[in-house]
Amino acid sequence: RVQRRNRPCRYDIDQFTPSFMSIFESLVPSDEEISKQKQLLTALSKLINKEWPNAKLFLYGSCANSFGFSNSDIDLCLSIDYKEMSKVDIILKLADILHAGNLQNIQALTRARVPIVKLMDPNTGLSCDICVNNLLAVVNTKLLRDYSQIDKRLRQLAFIVKHWAKSRCVNETYRGTLSSYAYVIMCIHLLQLRGILPCLQEMDPTCYVTVDNNTCAYFDQVDRLNSYGARNKETVSKLLWTFFHYWAYQHDYTKDVISIRTGRIISKHMKDWTRRVGNDRHLICIEDPFETSHDLGRVVDKRSIWTLREEFERAANILQYDPNPSVTLFEPY
Ligand code: ATP
Ligand code: MG
Repeated sequence: RVQRRNRPCRYDIDQFTPSFMSIFESLVPSDEEISKQKQLLTALSKLINKEWPNAKLFLYGSCANSFGFSNSDIDLCLSIDYKEMSKVDIILKLADILHAGNLQNIQALTRARVPIVKLMDPNTGLSCDICVNNLLAVVNTKLLRDYSQIDKRLRQLAFIVKHWAKSRCVNETYRGTLSSYAYVIMCIHLLQLRGILPCLQEMDPTCYVTVDNNTCAYFDQVDRLNSYGARNKETVSKLLWTFFHYWAYQHDYTKDVISIRTGRIISKHMKDWTRRVGNDRHLICIEDPFETSHDLGRVVDKRSIWTLREEFERAANILQYDPNPSVTLFEPY
């Protein structure tokens, strides 16, 4: 591993960029799909506002953060100020409203960690999950989308990483691997270190949102930053190599935390993430940009960490040696 830390990238890596780009293109949702999502948001908002005029429905997650694949489910968040009702009561009432509005396959999951209502809309054929008052997710969705507008390589890299993670079954938080959200943060972090993305939370803030006494502030005038990364000319295939090489051979799993909030690597020691606390083992440490006590790697356990690291090594080696990396990388697990 020591030797591989400084292994130079194969000289012909760039020849694979067109094939990785065509994989990216094949995963991007069509304009038609995006307009169907908007149509569903409008229809559901109308229905809900009849009962709760002051409530507001937000899109969040992959359909709003620009990292969504075609045909992915839609995540919606209902923002409602209704002190007489508990979250579970709101979920149950919401399920009734949706029933009356002829939506289908309605399920109220009131005992999940994040309670949601699931539904299918027969007009658009789309499925979605609605949660209640999860505004931090709405804010981190905007942060991710803002980053994606600075340099187009972020979206390309993250799509390919997510596609790899889904193909290799390492995008399953219930089995101890990482969420899509965590993978996107890992990509942002890499591009910050390469000088392709700035650190928006370290710049003078232009956007402030207070969520549960926590102020989320950052520079969001990203249209002023669209030549930020231009000096770095690395291709997507080179960045993909760097990503997997970093997680396979360079990241110090015993000491390091990646942090897009600071645009740096910070120490586990400083965050007191050096030992297991409750169920949080901190075996791979990815700091949430706003909820900084939250390690997005906390789902990873002592078995799944090895699954993950073996997959990072497999991917790094394919990108280094395989004659056809844009095929082999995504072979089903
Ligand atoms: P996919 O295409 O796989 O559905 P996704 O972008 O919707 O990807 P998820 O991991 O399903 O990603 O998460 C949905 C949203 O929920 C994220 O965009 C983020 O706003 C929020 N989220 C997910 N996991 C966390 C977490 N651990 N901490 C805070 N917010 C999270
Ligand atoms: Mg999702």
